[in-house]
Amino acid sequence: MLTPKVKEYIKNNFPKGDVVCLTGAGISLESGIPVFRGKGGLWERYDPQIYGYLEGLSSLFKTTPKKVIDFVVDFYTLILKASPNPAHRILSFLERQAVLKSIITQNIDNLHQEAGSRNVIELHGNAYRIRCSECFNKLILEKERLKEFIKLLKKYRSRRIRLLKILARYFPRCGCGGRFRIDVVLFGENLSDSALAEAYRQLDNCRTLLILGTSLEVYPAANLPFYAKEKGAKIIEINPQPTSFSEYCDYQIRGPASKVMLEIFKCLTNQEYA
Ligand code: NAD
Repeated sequence: MLTPKVKEYIKNNFPKGDVVCLTGAGISLESGIPVFRGKGGLWERYDPQIYGYLEGLSSLFKTTPKKVIDFVVDFYTLILKASPNPAHRILSFLERQAVLKSIITQNIDNLHQEAGSRNVIELHGNAYRIRCSECFNKLILEKERLKEFIKLLKKYRSRRIRLLKILARYFPRCGCGGRFRIDVVLFGENLSDSALAEAYRQLDNCRTLLILGTSLEVYPAANLPFYAKEKGAKIIEINPQPTSFSEYCDYQIRGPASKVMLEIFKCLTNQEYA
């Protein structure tokens, strides 16, 4: 899968550091989280024009709360079952070796952090966090607590009053009086300015940008590779399918994330990843 040219580039340049990785849903596919778009994806069963928007979810909840709860339960069941795969783990290893400077991710599944990566810039938030809609105070939802929450939603999905009580318990009022909501960027919402600014900052002195498992169809994340290229970075795309950015890449590696990252590990260490 790695051509001699790619291997040579990796061997000569990765040890110098300053590698940044931009990840998307494709890296977590082998962890059991399907991509949302396309066959078998969440958007096939739930209309993104309703379920992708806060207003859509709120008005649906008023009329048919069960439909919203079904969506939340399906989504979190996938997220909670997943664990990091070798691609997440090797990225974390590369960070510890001072090869990888940071990960900029569009994912909300927390799998990079679970794999041990520290410098992770989350462009679209994190499904394990809630934030106050007024003052932006953030709270972590621990995995066990989240599992408990989903279990209750499943049990009482058809009982409106009970559901409201459960939601109030897990999404309490903030000290400022504001309401907590899930800390993910839904359709039509802005990304956090600070996360986006940090992503651009990471690309300023980036030697190599690895683009791993993203179709680059979602903006403004899709602008980042263009910026990196302008700044002089070499771009390596890892994806079984070409994307609209493929033609601008210096190297394209066609294959699934884990398999390719295992080969990159071997190329750098002359060892198999255990
Ligand atoms: P996308 O669904 O648009 O594209 C996924 C890409 O992954 C495709 O280009 C596909 O060819 C590639 N791919 C498929 N299998 C792969 C594999 N085994 N290894 C590597 N690549 C593989 O995803 P996106 O570009 O990240 O944009 C979708 C949006 O949906 C993002 O904003 C993201 O927040 C969200 N999302 C997140 C998750 C998650 O957190 N795990 C899952 C689904 C969607």
